[in-house]
Amino acid sequence: MADYRDMWNGLGIDLETHDKLCDALPVLFGETFLDQKDRPAAMDYFNMVIAEVHGLRIKELLAHKERGGTVVGSFCIYVPEEIVLALDGLLVGLCAGSQFWVPAGETLLPRNLCALVKAGMGARISRTCPYFQSVDLIVGENTCDGKKKAWDILADEAPLYVMDMPNKKSPAGFALFRQEMEALVRRLEELTGKTLTAENLLKGCERVDRKRRALDRLYALRKADPLPLSGRDALLVSQIAFYDDPERFIAQTEALATECEERVARGQGVFPKGTPRLLVTGTPIVVPNWKFHAIAETSNLAVVVEENCTGTRYFEQKVSLPEKKDLASLLDSLAHRYFDGIHCACFSPNEGRLDDIVRLAREYGADGVVHLSLSFCTTYQIEEEKLRRRLAAEGIPFLSLETDYTPGDEGQLKTRVEAFGESLRRHR
Ligand code: SF4
Ligand code: SF4
Repeated sequence: MADYRDMWNGLGIDLETHDKLCDALPVLFGETFLDQKDRPAAMDYFNMVIAEVHGLRIKELLAHKERGGTVVGSFCIYVPEEIVLALDGLLVGLCAGSQFWVPAGETLLPRNLCALVKAGMGARISRTCPYFQSVDLIVGENTCDGKKKAWDILADEAPLYVMDMPNKKSPAGFALFRQEMEALVRRLEELTGKTLTAENLLKGCERVDRKRRALDRLYALRKADPLPLSGRDALLVSQIAFYDDPERFIAQTEALATECEERVARGQGVFPKGTPRLLVTGTPIVVPNWKFHAIAETSNLAVVVEENCTGTRYFEQKVSLPEKKDLASLLDSLAHRYFDGIHCACFSPNEGRLDDIVRLAREYGADGVVHLSLSFCTTYQIEEEKLRRRLAAEGIPFLSLETDYTPGDEGQLKTRVEAFGESLRRHR
């Protein structure tokens, strides 16, 4: 990696602590990804993105700001990227997936909170994440209790705007979401000095739509047996979608999809045909959290699809453009895509998510479903009971796992995953 120390210094990064993070990541990445056999050659690009995760992309974000653009950070897929792009902004995902940041987060937050919120807070206050240091504004959302209470504290540390979120999929809930989207537009217009118009919003919708369709195309190839690329690699691509340059990401994902199509046509796979297949659902799995996928795929199981916010929930639903393309109608369509189409456990009831899991398990030929929840994420953990009952009624094997970002439970997780794999083999 090139020398970015001056750039990091300029961002106020704590260089000494940041060096420790930079030392740890290549080792973890090498063990998780580079040791895999027969990876598609197009994964080289995604390897490069991770190698440059705090370098090249940050340089690009800063260049964008120098040209008068803005950088907006978010923690949730309810924040519409279309609007940010329309106002000449770039949206970057700030969810932090490393234990490295958790202790710093715990200096301000209770320990019994999910690792994702603690790591996000820790990344900001320890000044060791150049994304947090580069953003002009962070958009938080009142989804779960942990996030909504943490925002009050983060607001003292960083420029923060909070979207209120409904808890119920009802007309009143939609009206609140639509209104909150309007309020976000006003805040972003104030930040950027630009005005949202039907024209720039249409362009934003078109760019995000192409990104979603590229991911659609890639994921569809995961329905094949044998699998043309591992679950780890597919997860990596999805994680990178949250902060990479959209156009470059689309081109590289399409190139990977083309290579995977050729593999499918030849019957070439990364695991033997007939390897038991898993659908993973639950809390988001953000960079560099690759723990579960690595455990499963080194236990002779294949992860074929993720029903979560770093998986299908991110890209499956598209914006249905209205006939009348005025700004209000476009915003209505956009609001429907997010509100109706994303089934987060912050909504109750949340039958749409259960329906999605059953449908995806069938579409991807999953032999079993793994509910993977971060410790202390009560919203997903409570919803799990509804999922357990639904999957039992559908005859789909189910495994519940709870974990965090520490490596301490890897042995125990592996034992449980292997036992589940054995039961799936017998179940066939
Ligand atoms: S799980 Fe819910 S709160 Fe978390 S990123 Fe997804 S939609 Fe947002
Ligand atoms: S993982 Fe659960 S507790 Fe953590 S931020 Fe997401 S919804 Fe909230």
